[in-house]
Amino acid sequence: MNLVFLGPPGSGKGTQAVRVAKALKVSHISTGDLLREAVRDKTELGKKVEDTMKQGQLVPDEVVISLIGQKIMALEENQGFILDGFPRNVPQAESLKFMFDNQHKKLDKAILLRVSDDEVVKRLSGRWNCPKCNTGYNHPSNVPKHEGICDRDGEKLLRRPDDEEAVVRKRLEVYKAETIPIEDFYRKESILTEIEGEQQPDKVFQDILTAVKD
Ligand code: AMP
Repeated sequence: MNLVFLGPPGSGKGTQAVRVAKALKVSHISTGDLLREAVRDKTELGKKVEDTMKQGQLVPDEVVISLIGQKIMALEENQGFILDGFPRNVPQAESLKFMFDNQHKKLDKAILLRVSDDEVVKRLSGRWNCPKCNTGYNHPSNVPKHEGICDRDGEKLLRRPDDEEAVVRKRLEVYKAETIPIEDFYRKESILTEIEGEQQPDKVFQDILTAVKD
């Protein structure tokens, strides 16, 4: 099973992708996580993309296409996967299709999580992450036992620099201009499924499972 998760920043795609990947026993590949790891490790790639990410802009297509290509190539022949955060524009969706056609793979579904702009801003301004284990917390729905400290490993929680409100607004703008056109791309291929992302997380999870088993 090969899936793409679409949705604005803060729509819950990362959280749901991790959960669904576990339930379906497929790999979870997040371009945002891969790029943040490169920034944290100060690799050449990290240095190249850091400023762009801080501003909430998309990094160049060739960078993410090559990153995703390497990750997919490294998987076992029949290992399924969820792509989270990729593709982000129509040229990326086209190159993914080209890559799949060449490798005789197919995309089974594109899952779109629908969440309003106000909800995005509200969610991201309360989002905290553990830099060590990547566990996410949210004020007020999912707070750690001790304020600012990860329940799992006691690490000090951090906010993503691109979760500041002005940057969130920029990311939403970029999402509307660049990413929304992908909906039509997958609608034409008859693989787009829309899920109401403002429901309880367990319900969103169940709706996604029902959609992929259809
Ligand atoms: P995310 O964690 O998916 O919200 O991604 C965080 C940031 O990483 C984005 O705001 C972009 O700067 C960059 N990024 C992630 N995925 C892509 C992509 N497919 N194309 C371009 N930039 C990306």
